[in-house]
Amino acid sequence: MTEKFDVIVIGGGPGGYVAAIRAAQLGLTTACIDMNTGKDGKAALGGTCLNVGCIPSKALLDSSKHYHHLQHDYAAHGISVSDASIDVGTMMSRKDSVVKRLTGGVAQLFKANKVKHYHGRGRLLADRQVEFTPHDASDTLNLQAENIILASGSVPIAIPNVEFDGEYIIDNVGALDLQETPKRFGVIGAGVIGLELGSVWRRLGAEVILLEALPELLPMADTDIARQAGRLFKKQGLDIRLDTLVKSAAVENGEVKVVVEGKDGESELSFDRLLVAVGRRPYTEGLLDEDCGVELNEQGQISVNERSQTSVRGVWAVGDCVRGPMLAHKASEEGIAVAELIAGKAAHIHFDTVPWVIYTDPEIAWVGKTEQQLKEDGVDYRTGSFPFAATGRGLAMGDAAGMVKMLADAGTDEVLGVHIIGPGASELIAECVVTMEFHGASEDLARIVHAHPTLSEAVHEAALHVDGRAIHRGN
Ligand code: FAD
Ligand code: NAD
Repeated sequence: MTEKFDVIVIGGGPGGYVAAIRAAQLGLTTACIDMNTGKDGKAALGGTCLNVGCIPSKALLDSSKHYHHLQHDYAAHGISVSDASIDVGTMMSRKDSVVKRLTGGVAQLFKANKVKHYHGRGRLLADRQVEFTPHDASDTLNLQAENIILASGSVPIAIPNVEFDGEYIIDNVGALDLQETPKRFGVIGAGVIGLELGSVWRRLGAEVILLEALPELLPMADTDIARQAGRLFKKQGLDIRLDTLVKSAAVENGEVKVVVEGKDGESELSFDRLLVAVGRRPYTEGLLDEDCGVELNEQGQISVNERSQTSVRGVWAVGDCVRGPMLAHKASEEGIAVAELIAGKAAHIHFDTVPWVIYTDPEIAWVGKTEQQLKEDGVDYRTGSFPFAATGRGLAMGDAAGMVKMLADAGTDEVLGVHIIGPGASELIAECVVTMEFHGASEDLARIVHAHPTLSEAVHEAALHVDGRAIHRGN
């Protein structure tokens, strides 16, 4: 017998589960098939983000930040602690309980919204049919829907001559679950994951070396911000080696030997653990029957148009398995938009205003164009900037490294990009996203009252600085 729904979602990450909840809210009978199993052997919704991505990494970043502050920063506040120690096992249990609470929360939201959850693998067949293979490999079921949303996410990329073994040579899953601090922690790729997880283990005392193939750090960020980040990370003891190619890695006598080729030729490094974080690729293995008609592009992503429609009518795709940045909030917004389009509503996403955040210390966040992009595009622009060291709040907190940089059109004054490195950058960027979404000008931000003393005054002052009238810095 075939079970019928208005909408079937394959994948229960932030793209899929959010799409399923929104579809159900709109009165559509909805099922979500997700194959992920948690550490307790039970179904765990939430995909990469909740289980082995955004949430566990932020839990560990916060724990390790507390430990680092305790050791290095509290003395200035007159707080002394003797014999600070870290129990990595407890830190991991706390992280696991945060994950469990959130994945359990999604299951409850499914119940509350009457989304039917199938734990197992989904495979798209022709004519909007889906084959469901339960997690326990019992008999397959046939499901059918008017609309199907594919949200199968992504998996880590592997590089030649470096094989994951899950113990010594690891991906994000392994690096988020180490039970003790490695003495020497190697990372291939100084991208977002490398910097975040490298920071976690550095703060806990590991010697961390990041091996980056490109000649510059964070090329997607504004150059001024990336340079400042590089200097601050170096001060924290992150040893970032640019222009370095990894030739091979092998486990020998309980350590990982890595052969690298850098500016000074070939050399060998030894690590206790090696994280490979060189990017992610869309995951579509076993998802598409050869008769289903859905096409992939050259990057292996599911081909979609700007409305997230695939090559088959009634089949949509969202999140990491399609074009665009691999970010949880981008996946979720696409999921909501697709559910609304299915329900006959208008929906649209502005990819130009998707914010990026890197949760290092200080945090890095941006929205819109970088200065180098504006130069390349020949746009006439003005810049304003403001250092957190000139904010009362930053100094009072004892956390004042970094700055806000704003780029605005020289003619219309519309804000074209905002780039922040500093305390609370992840929250401060929201105001800038709203401004850009409403095509606001730097003058708008300059004229809005910002509470004193707050970090948001740095955004305000950067906006004033675009027009050469910042109050607390020279113009
Ligand atoms: P996923 O979250 O990958 O979910 C896909 C789900 O589909 C999975 O549960 C998978 O098992 C399931 N699935 C796949 N195929 C099938 C099938 N055939 N049948 C049934 N189920 C299937 N992004 C941010 O915005 N902020 C962050 O701070 C952040 N931190 C991150 C940290 C790390 C370490 C990593 C790895 C990623 C991080 N990301 C972050 C990226 C974020 O996790 C992804 O962009 C997001 O999870 C993508 O959501 P998705 O729904 O497209 O896919
Ligand atoms: P990434 O693209 O951010 O960084 C990968 C880095 O590896 C790049 O700097 C790249 O130049 C380098 N690289 C590639 N091949 C290499 C090689 N052979 N040797 C050495 N260096 C090499 O990818 P990631 O860090 O793996 O993260 C994957 C994605 O997950 C991110 O792009 C992002 O979309 C998402 N993510 C987001 C967050 C966040 O929003 N805070 C956090 C973690 C992950």
